[in-house]
Amino acid sequence: MLTSAGPIDLRSDTVTRPTPPMREAMAAAPVGDDQFGEDPTINQLQERVAALLGKEAALWLPTGTMANQVALRALPRPGDDVIASRECHAVWHETGGSAANAGVQITEIGAGGVFTAEEFLAARKTRGHLVYPPTTLVEIENTHNRAGGVIFPQDEAERVCAAAREHGVASFMDGARLWNAAIASGRSPASLAAPFDLIAVSFSKGLGAPGGSLLAGSRALIDQCVRHRRMLGGAMRQVGIFAAAALYALDHHLARLAEDHRHARRLGERLAQSPQIDLDLATVQTNILVFHLRPDAPDAAKLVAWARERGVLAIAFGPRTVRVATHLDVSAAQCEAAAEVLVALAEGR
Ligand SMILES: *Cc1c(COP(=O)(O)O)cnc(C)c1O
Repeated sequence: MLTSAGPIDLRSDTVTRPTPPMREAMAAAPVGDDQFGEDPTINQLQERVAALLGKEAALWLPTGTMANQVALRALPRPGDDVIASRECHAVWHETGGSAANAGVQITEIGAGGVFTAEEFLAARKTRGHLVYPPTTLVEIENTHNRAGGVIFPQDEAERVCAAAREHGVASFMDGARLWNAAIASGRSPASLAAPFDLIAVSFSKGLGAPGGSLLAGSRALIDQCVRHRRMLGGAMRQVGIFAAAALYALDHHLARLAEDHRHARRLGERLAQSPQIDLDLATVQTNILVFHLRPDAPDAAKLVAWARERGVLAIAFGPRTVRVATHLDVSAAQCEAAAEVLVALAEGR
């Protein structure tokens, strides 16, 4: 073990624990029955997030997965085609929810977490065609998890959404890590959200709250989302305790994401030095690193198991692909120590 305090947990930015002052804010939160719209802390968070994202209204949901599922039910119809980035969360990480809950088919396009307006138009299926499933939604993931936390270029997002609007296709951003994209790019969350009809953001990733995601969009669209949230069983009661953690996170954990990005950068620079590791440093833009093990290095499952024995936790994303994520519960020194362990194991030491 590298530290007496326990392993260096880089599996995800969701492993953080609420800090003592966050817990204090949660304990002190005024609450009410949110299904009657009477939780004052939830109402405050919804208003604040709507304003931050430049939309009319926002809605609290227990998870980002449910936010995506609600979006996929509110915007397309069952049987419709949804165009999204290759290896997006909705396809890979929601156990088939988009098929089971929304009944949509998703066409994955592009590479490295991004795609162009031309690629969108080439994949779009027209409405009213004899055999095509009509494309009624385009989804962008920003930052893109499986591509290594890359930021979707904003000018391209604007072109994609403009092309979508021209063809009557709705637009949705899975912005679970929109906060990271905003801090890393120096753009406001509202400017990143501006081209989209509907946006999901998460508070349980880099912001370090114990749970909660929000959808933001027009009042009419959010009213529809309220029904779908209930239908999926996600309408809760005194959830102001979660909203208090999210409000605390907006005040205290947003600007510090830059620190996570610096830590990821340093970790990445060390990993990229190893001849046994393939890591494109151009993908290291925020707090996630996805790297590949060369053919004569151990495979991802072995590396992850051995790293655990040495006090470092990572995730195997594929046979030779590993993901690590930095967050507010790991220091610069821990990231450096973890990089040494991962490099040593990849090099058979
Ligand atoms: C984590 C994540 C989600 C889902 O969030 P949960 O709260 O874990 O359900 C959705 N989209 C992306 C891109 C994510 O990384």
